[in-house]
Parts: sequence; structure tokens; C-alpha cells
Amino acid sequence: MTLSTPFTRFQKTLGTVVQQLKLSKAEMKMLQEPQHIHRSNISIKNDHGKKVTFPAFRVQFNNARGPYKGGIRFHPAADEEEVKALAALMAIKTAVVDIPFGGSKGGIQCDPKKFSRRELQEVSRAYARTFKEHLGADLDCPAPDVNTTPDIMAWMRDEYEKQTHTYAPAMITGKPLAYGGMLGRDLATARGGFFVLEEMILRDALDPKELRVAIQGFGNAGANMALFLHRAGYMVVAVSDSQGGIYSAEGIDPFRIQKYKQRTGSVIGEYCKGSVCDIKKMKLDHVRRVTNQELLELPCDILIPAALDNAITGKNASNVQAKYVLELANGPVSPEADKIFAKRGIQVIPDVLANAGGVVVSYFEWSQGRSGRLWTLDQSKADLKRIMLEAFTEVRREARRTNATYREAAFAVGIKRIVEAMKVRGWV
Ligand code: NAD
Repeated sequence: MTLSTPFTRFQKTLGTVVQQLKLSKAEMKMLQEPQHIHRSNISIKNDHGKKVTFPAFRVQFNNARGPYKGGIRFHPAADEEEVKALAALMAIKTAVVDIPFGGSKGGIQCDPKKFSRRELQEVSRAYARTFKEHLGADLDCPAPDVNTTPDIMAWMRDEYEKQTHTYAPAMITGKPLAYGGMLGRDLATARGGFFVLEEMILRDALDPKELRVAIQGFGNAGANMALFLHRAGYMVVAVSDSQGGIYSAEGIDPFRIQKYKQRTGSVIGEYCKGSVCDIKKMKLDHVRRVTNQELLELPCDILIPAALDNAITGKNASNVQAKYVLELANGPVSPEADKIFAKRGIQVIPDVLANAGGVVVSYFEWSQGRSGRLWTLDQSKADLKRIMLEAFTEVRREARRTNATYREAAFAVGIKRIVEAMKVRGWV
């Protein structure tokens, strides 16, 4: 039995779709493996003067449609297999939303929560120095991902400019507004996912006010999504972060939860310290504590995994009660879970469409950096909406035409565009 890794899971989905598309051997080969894998060990001196080293990667999957594009993740699990899978998803994603990029991803295998701010800056600068020859606005443009922030993007741009003696505002996106950032980038992933979900609900003739939502992960993507949905009248019944979650059948106010989280560091912090909970307060607010596993199986209409990959697998997919799953995280539903959902009629709006808002607004930022022309927030929101809805319409049409799941349809739309570009460039 082959070990299941994020990359083998990607290849499994790819395999199903390429069979249906009847691609040539040469076309398939180019879609199965990355074009380049750059590896290095990054060393810095920690605050105690000791040399510490971390494995680092930049995987460039495919650039048939334009420069490579993809975030950088700082995480203990960010190994080569994970970064490869994320790079492959980026290539499909940029093609699904039809922006002129390929796909790549970067990672440093480290626990950034253990770094001081100085150490974080050192590690970030070291990454830009190490991979500088492979990066650039016309070559490969990084962005934030899990545990990487606008500050980190600023340090990387600054280091890159110093090393290459250039002015390079378009070499990286997700920067702070004070240093070439884009209005609306911080909320873009959640906003893009919200536009797609709203359209789905509208076309399926459902009333948001009657829909209950559970969200796993209360970070940039998940928390902002909770706020958008709450404002639009959906009932958010559960949220969680790495320390666990809360559920209320009567609905919870994500604005309040966000304040709790800012104050206590976790969404349950207002009610529980460690395993000891203030039951009286919980009763008063009609909430109960749930684990991250339980959250996925709660009674709700829409489930939004917005934290980890492989959260829903063959083991728990049968217990999911939602009718829709919107993948704000990358790769949260395994191929086995996909099969179970398809059998049970549960619609999965896949990551390559649902969370593409971030890279779409990154495209605006890249184009702002190249042209020097500043965008307004209204322009950024309106163009994001147009692009997300066009992509949704295309994917839905393909799903209906071929009787496929949304994931298969999205992969088909993306792969056809990549193959077309490879053909016109004479690669295949
Ligand atoms: P983040 O670091 O801001 O937030 C992650 C959240 O998940 C945190 O609240 C954390 O506490 C929580 N979490 C961690 N482990 C958990 C667990 N075991 N169970 C439940 N929650 C847990 O990260 P983010 O930027 O919101 O990214 C989340 C996911 O969305 C990732 O898969 C990322 O690749 C994907 N994504 C993010 C963006 C973006 O622009 N932020 C774009 C595309 C995809």
C-alpha cells in the first residue's frame, strides 16, 4: 500500500480527471510532477547565539500560463511532499480563476511560534537570500500562507531588493500597505469564498437565514468568513481553533468570539482555561465546548474546514451532517471522503475555487507593483467578485455537462487551460 501524503492525494484526484480528459502521455507527464524542486537548509543564530538550521523548499510546479505563484508556509509539517502538493494545487487554482500565473509554493520546516521577532525576521530574510535566483516578478512570486504575515513579506522583499540591487515591488504579494500592499488582500480569501458560496446558495434557491454554518479554524480565512456570513444573515453555530471549539444550536456571534480570541488567545478562552470550563457562563451563553473532530460532525447545513489539510477522511466523512462543504483550507477533504460525499449527495466546493480569492487579489497586487498604478478598495472588491463568479459559473457548467463533482469539474477546467497553454508554447 502506498503511503498517503498530500502529494499522493493530489495525484489521485489528478488521475481521475486526466483519464476523463484523454490527455496524451506527454501532457500527463508535465502535470504529474513539478518542473523544479529547490531545497536548502537555512541557518540562523538564535537569541542564545546558537546556530539553528531548518529545511526549506521552493517547489515550482508549472509555469505554462505565466510566472510561478504561491505562498510560503512556516510549519513543522511543511516538508517536501506537502509543499509539492500545495504547489500543484496553486497551478490548478490560478488556471481555474484564469489569472496569468503558474503554480508554486514554498515552505520552511520550523515552528515559528517558538521564534522571537528577531529570529522570525532572520529566518525570513535567509529564505529570500537562499532562493533569490529563483524568485522575481517575472519568474516566481511568493505570498503569505500558514504562519506567514505581511511583515514577513516586507522583510523578504527588502532582503531580495538588497541582494539583487533592484526595486522589486512585484516580486512578492501580501505585503503591508505601507510597502506596496494591496487594499483588500487581508480579507480576500474569505471574501472570494463568500462570493462563491452566496452564488451557490442563490442558484440552489436557498435562504441564508435558514442555513447553519460550522467553521473549523478561526484564523485569517476562517474568522473573516465567519464575519461575512454572520453579516449576511447565516447562523454560525460553531467555530474552533487549534485549542478546540464552541457550539451553540442558537447561533454564536463571531464578532464577540473574535474579541475573546484577541483577549485570551483562543476561541474557547472566554469559557475555559485548559480543561476547566466555567459551566455557568457557558449555560448563560447557550454554548458547549466541542473538539475539532466533533465540530466536523455537528448538525449544520454548511461545513467550512479552514485550518488543516486532510481534516475529513474516509474515517469521518460518513458522520458529516452538512449538505455543503466549502474548502477554505487547502486539501481538507481526502479523495476517500470525496467519494463518500459524492455518494451521499454532499456538495464540496473545492479549495482550487473556494479559496482562490487570496491569489486573485495577489494578482492585483502584482499588477499594481508592475504598473505603479494604485488600485482602490472598490476596484479590488469588484474585480474579485467578477473573477470568482466567472470561475464558479464555468466550474458549475462543467460539472453539469459532465455529471462530475465540483472538484473534478474545477480540475478539468484548470487542466484544460494549462494544457492549452503548453500546446501553444510548443511544449507538448
Ligand atoms: P491562520 O494561521 O491565520 O489560521 C489557521 C487557524 O487554524 C488558526 O485559528 C489555528 O488556531 C487553527 N488551527 C490550527 N490547527 C487546528 C486544528 N487542529 N483544528 C482546528 N483549527 C486549527 O491560517 P489561514 O491563513 O487562515 O489559513 C488556513 C487555511 O486556509 C490553510 O489551509 C491555508 O493554506 C488556507 N488558505 C489561506 C489563504 C489566505 O489567504 N489566508 C489563502 C488560500 C488558502
